[in-house]
Amino acid sequence: MRVTLLGTGTSQGVPMIACDCEVCQSSDPKDHRFRCSAWVQSDDLSILIDTTPDLRSQALRAGIRHLDAVVCTHAHNDHLIGFDDLRRFCDRNRPPLSVYCSSETHERLLTVFPYAFQEDNSPYNSYVRAQAHVFDGPFELGALRFVPVLVPHGRTLTHGFILEENGIRHLAYIPDCAALTESMTEALRDIPVLIIDGLRDKPHPTHMNVPAALAAACTVRAGTTYLTHLTHDISHAQRSPLLPENVFLAYDGLVLDFPT
Ligand SMILES: [Zn+2]
Ligand SMILES: [Zn+2]
Ligand SMILES: [Zn+2]
Repeated sequence: MRVTLLGTGTSQGVPMIACDCEVCQSSDPKDHRFRCSAWVQSDDLSILIDTTPDLRSQALRAGIRHLDAVVCTHAHNDHLIGFDDLRRFCDRNRPPLSVYCSSETHERLLTVFPYAFQEDNSPYNSYVRAQAHVFDGPFELGALRFVPVLVPHGRTLTHGFILEENGIRHLAYIPDCAALTESMTEALRDIPVLIIDGLRDKPHPTHMNVPAALAAACTVRAGTTYLTHLTHDISHAQRSPLLPENVFLAYDGLVLDFPT
């Protein structure tokens, strides 16, 4: 299994519009952060986690040529509003694209992109055509098993996912997370790779900051941790040397390979 992080930035992305700070002006590509999403490849399966406002640019940059399924963490715009860009991965001669989401995210998709879920949704060939699969527990795609983990995220709940392949637990992907709950601790215990919300240094009501993410990584005894959903407060080059030895800043284009 291969996981490529297509975006590792907070909801406004980095650089932010009209910001002159050092990180927004940085020429280091690792300080350029699209909104958070990930591309999972396993055998010939190609799966996208979240459809950000940057989806088109992300797909072009990573060279995504087809998708077998899309998996949604939650209904916030920075993870969802690029959904229409999935049109390029839809084909009238094939079944609609499978979209795995919670019932809350499904409702939002039906509100914002109703045409995508209507049978025979358009006389044209190029519209997005999707088939929703509302999950309320683990689901399987080929050799992969996605285990949803319910995560607090301010006034809403979101899902992170533990990814298993052929029964081997590889990683957890939790881009938006306000705190580590007991049930999360249980589910994430000894996870080999943890990709988790680290946002910035200052506390935030709906996201963990860097100290909270480091504490969470310690509590669950994660093997290797990558902090994601980062703001312009975090300089990749300046911050990286200050992190514990098994913790790294995620960056756009980071590829993680997991032997089967
Ligand atoms: Zn987000
Ligand atoms: Zn800035
Ligand atoms: Zn969110």
